Amino acid sequence: MTREIYLDNAATTPCDKRVLKAMEPYWSKIYGNPSSFNDAGREARKAVDQSRQKIARLLGAKNQEIIFTSSATEANNLAIFGIIKTIKNKNCKIITTLVEHASVSEPIKKLMEDGLKIHYLSVNKDGLIDLNEFKKALTPETILISIICANNEIGSVQPIKKMAKIIKEFRKSSLGSDEKIPFFHVDAVQAANHLDINVNNLGVDLMTISSHKIYGPKGIASLYVRRGTKIEPLIYGGGQEFNLRSSTEAVPLIVGFAKALEITNNLQQITYNKQERLRTYFVNELKKILPSVKINGPENPQNRIPNIINITIPEIENEQLLLHLDKYGIHASAGSACASYDIEPSHVLTAIGLSKEEARSSIRFSLGKQTSKADLDYVLKILPKMVNKIEGLYPKDLKEHYYGRAD
Ligand code: PLP
Repeated sequence: MTREIYLDNAATTPCDKRVLKAMEPYWSKIYGNPSSFNDAGREARKAVDQSRQKIARLLGAKNQEIIFTSSATEANNLAIFGIIKTIKNKNCKIITTLVEHASVSEPIKKLMEDGLKIHYLSVNKDGLIDLNEFKKALTPETILISIICANNEIGSVQPIKKMAKIIKEFRKSSLGSDEKIPFFHVDAVQAANHLDINVNNLGVDLMTISSHKIYGPKGIASLYVRRGTKIEPLIYGGGQEFNLRSSTEAVPLIVGFAKALEITNNLQQITYNKQERLRTYFVNELKKILPSVKINGPENPQNRIPNIINITIPEIENEQLLLHLDKYGIHASAGSACASYDIEPSHVLTAIGLSKEEARSSIRFSLGKQTSKADLDYVLKILPKMVNKIEGLYPKDLKEHYYGRAD
């Protein structure tokens, strides 16, 4: 019988049983509308308020600064379009990077098409931005900085605290301008399981997190919006979420999200240490078994989260390898889940200097809190076999003929 080994936890995580239990009463027992003036509604309102309070406390925020959305994609869109909507003079600039998730890069691309200036910070081979380039890019026309905290494909962690300090100094030095501008938005979706995401420690104005990446339910996320940040809604209606995101609150999902954040926060150190140990073991063993393998992203643990292992196996097409691994119950991915059906190679891998060919020979294993050493031993046993099999099926000299690609 094949084993099932899920190593795609950066794409999504299984819902924790404690989260399921916490949500349970809110489907058909306590099902009122939090905006209704009746007992059923008041109970539901209490659950939403308590969950918001819990999330706010864990992030170091005030209750009114937590805005629930349906996804991190929506939260990122709200942060970006919501800030830009408040600007009358469109002669402004956004600073971002070349390694953002599509939920940030696509809204920004749209704004660029509409005429906004965008400064794309370059990244080094580890996927990290250069603080001097950032400093120079900050000009009085900068309205927003939107940066991914921990990268979903290679795990690089950007120097968010240092960036926040630079922004603060810049605000002080630009005499006469609004002391709150530019606004600093961080996509902390992949960071939430591993890093300190206290908004005050980080020094951010807006921050996105997503429930289904932290062992909570899908369909719920939040945007932290620091008090005083000028932002307009994208969805209008009954005025829920402090007029920033109308629609009846998804009570069970909100309860589950808060529980998931609480659990991941409590377990953070234990999970971090375990995953760092597993990662080191896996990478060392892999290098012995497949000497041609290249590890993408930072080696230094200070510069990355521990659960993402992105590798290039030269000459092996990732789609082929993933299919073969899948047959053996090993579920990995080619990088960003949203891009899995793209034929274009990963923009993150090409931004750190990989060729298109190398990017197409790269796969991502992302560990979860449930991942064990036995799981990784199984991968170490199967992976070389699959690589040999593909090499046998597609000999190097005939590769171009089979793949029909020459780039
Ligand atoms: N940002 C990052 C860094 C992600 O990894 C993802 C999901 O892959 C998202 C945003 C989008 O999250 P959601 O699925 O909640 O829209």
